[in-house]
Formats: sequence, structure tokens, C-alpha cells
Amino acid sequence: MIENKVVVITGASSGIGSETAKLLASHGAKVVLGARREEKLQALTATINNAGGQAVYRVTDVTKPEDNQALVQLAKDTFGGIDVMFLNAGLMPNSPLSALKVEEWNRIVDVNLKGVLNGIAAALPTFKTQKSGHFIATSSVAGLKAYPGGAVYGATKWAVRDLMEVLRMEAAQEGSHIRTATIYPAAIKTELLRTITDQGVATDMKHTYDTYEITADRIAKVVAFAIDMPEDTNFNEFTVGPTDQP
Ligand code: NDP
Repeated sequence: MIENKVVVITGASSGIGSETAKLLASHGAKVVLGARREEKLQALTATINNAGGQAVYRVTDVTKPEDNQALVQLAKDTFGGIDVMFLNAGLMPNSPLSALKVEEWNRIVDVNLKGVLNGIAAALPTFKTQKSGHFIATSSVAGLKAYPGGAVYGATKWAVRDLMEVLRMEAAQEGSHIRTATIYPAAIKTELLRTITDQGVATDMKHTYDTYEITADRIAKVVAFAIDMPEDTNFNEFTVGPTDQP
């Protein structure tokens, strides 16, 4: 059931997070939106609320543990709890390792991996108390298949899968009944390519996306499907992308 579920979404200001917020809210979920760009969060919140849905937002940098804590607290204060934590914030400044863009490597790890850990730390205590909860993470096909230029990004996305699987297994051992899902999108039309600074990689990826990309509402449907499953059923992993993309 999606209706009345309280869903916290990181990376909600654009792309997959934004589309997921709209879809879940249209099914009666109460959505709590986090990202750094306030004007986008404000506009999305207004769109959802004006359409009869329920949304609140908080400016959130997932690299800051306290921001993740505050986002979860906003969900509890506004809607009385949290049912789903959608760990979706991410960036993809891909480059060849030999370019030694060390600051970008660190940024990818900080957002895509440590940001996910910060989100887990923020929601897990409440999920354990409730003995229920659902973590859903946006990994990537880059976490399943290596490709030149995507080493650090792929490493963080592979790590996310491991986190989701172990989290669920440990929670089961501890009697907490926490569901986890990992989603592996391929080329989805969003703002993701904007952080690439390597011109060669940017050109190649733009070509791939221009050729194949599908829209972000497809991923929103997968998230909705995972949440809608009965509580005793875990939807572990889903790879989803354009039909013709190799
Ligand atoms: P977008 O760039 O449109 O969205 C990324 C979101 O992450 C934005 O809302 C951005 O918000 C947020 N974000 C980035 N850094 C931070 C931060 N430090 N703190 C909080 N939020 C942050 O791209 P997508 O929608 O495509 O990306 C969503 C997820 O999907 C990412 O994890 C990405 O890796 C993954 N993915 C995307 C694919 C694609 O083809 N589009 C394919 C596979 C995976 P703001 O800038 O306002 O903070």
C-alpha cells in the first residue's frame, strides 16, 4: 500500500527524485523532500500540495549527517513517523582515472556513498523501534557493469547494493523486518550529466543519452511498485533502462 505511507526522498529537487515524489503523492503518500536547491523544492512542494497531495521539504545536503537527521525529524514531526527512506541523491562527474580528478572522486564518494550511509543512520533507529521500514536506494547499471570513465561512480553504486542487502539481512536477524530495494537505472533523462567536467566523457555520455534515454517517471513506477508490495515481500533489485540501450 502506498496510501498514507510517509516517504522521505533525498535528491528530490530534480529528475528521478522529483518524478517519484509526484507519483507517490498522487497515490496518497505523504512525501518529505530533501535536496540543496530550495527554489526547486519549494516549487515541487507547491505543485504536489496544489494537486491535493501532501508534501513538505527541507533544504538538505546529504553529506552532512545532521541534515539527514533533520529531514527524518521533519517527517516525524509533520506526519508522525517515517515508512520509507528513498536514498536517491547522487552525482556523476565521470572521468578517466588517469585524469586524477581527486576532488571529484571525493565528492562522488561523499554524496553517493557517505550520503547514503548518513541517510541510513538517520532513519534506521526509527525503523528498528517500529520494527518496520523500507530503504530504497538508487544505484545504477554502473554498479553492475564496469565502463571506462565510470570507475569511482561505479564503485559507489556497487557499494550501495551491498549496503542494502546487508541491511535487510541484519535487520531480519535482529527481528526488525526492514525491507530494502536497490534500483539500477540505465540512461534516464534528468540533470545528471551536468556535473561532468571531462569533455571527452561528457561528449560520449551525451551521445549515449541523446540516443537512448527514457524519462524519469519510469523509475518512479519501479519505486512505487517496490513500496506497494505486501510488507512480507521484499523487492530486492531491479534493473531498468531503455529497451534499445546495449
Ligand atoms: P539529477 O541530477 O536530476 O538529480 C540528482 C539529485 O541529487 C538532485 O535532486 C540533486 O539536488 C541531488 N543532490 C546532489 N548532491 C546532493 C547533496 N550533496 N545533497 C542532497 N542532494 C543532492 O539526476 P538523477 O535524477 O538522474 O539522479 C538521481 C539518482 O539516480 C542519482 O543517485 C544517480 O546516480 C542515479 N542514476 C541516474 C541515472 C540516469 O541516467 N539519470 C542512471 C543511474 C542512476 P540538489 O542539486 O538540489 O542538491
